[in-house]
Amino acid sequence: MPDFSKDTSENTDSVWEQRYLSDDIPWDKGYAAPPLAEILSRLKLTGSILVPGCGFGYDVRLLAEAGTEPLGLDISPYAIDKANSYPRVSSERYEVGDFFSLCETYEGKFNWIFEHTFLCAIDPSQRSDYVRTALRLLSENGYLAAIFFIHIDDPEGPPYPISYDEIDQLFSANFDTLEQWVPTSAYPGREGREEIRIMRRIDHQPL
Ligand code: SAH
Repeated sequence: MPDFSKDTSENTDSVWEQRYLSDDIPWDKGYAAPPLAEILSRLKLTGSILVPGCGFGYDVRLLAEAGTEPLGLDISPYAIDKANSYPRVSSERYEVGDFFSLCETYEGKFNWIFEHTFLCAIDPSQRSDYVRTALRLLSENGYLAAIFFIHIDDPEGPPYPISYDEIDQLFSANFDTLEQWVPTSAYPGREGREEIRIMRRIDHQPL
């Protein structure tokens, strides 16, 4: 599998846009992530769902087909233009924006966040901000459904895969894991390298 993007530049948005403009997008497989179909066959996802780093929106459209109300978010205007060019499935929407600085209108508004190839694309120094942002955007008792790219030594893998321990360290204070499994279906080359986690935000009661 070719390299994703090793991006440590401050102008992250233009770096991603440039990757799309030069068609240097090895992560794009042209169809929704097979493990997402697996999630949908086991769980009923309902309500509003944020899909950060949605790229061309294949996962967003599958979520819309399943009856949810997804918002696909990407920092790249090119990716969002392309996502919008697909025939509408139902209530899906797309927006250009930075996950880490989404406007206040969205605070507490999502029942779910669906994560796929986003955490593995951002610098590990942003991971605690990722959790803070997810907590800010999720409604009370909101859920995070994730397909994590697990770290296996592979120079051609994504820039920032995560280990099982790191997943636990990152999320356990704020999310309960309800289900976890290794998906039986995957894009070619990703077999056995992904971990599905269904997590619920812990709403700490004030003392
Ligand atoms: N999920 C898509 C794209 C994965 S690549 C797929 O699998 O096809 C990571 C995506 O995250 C890119 O589309 C990039 O433009 C987007 N991205 C990177 N940083 C972002 C940020 N801070 N906010 C929103 N999107 C971001």
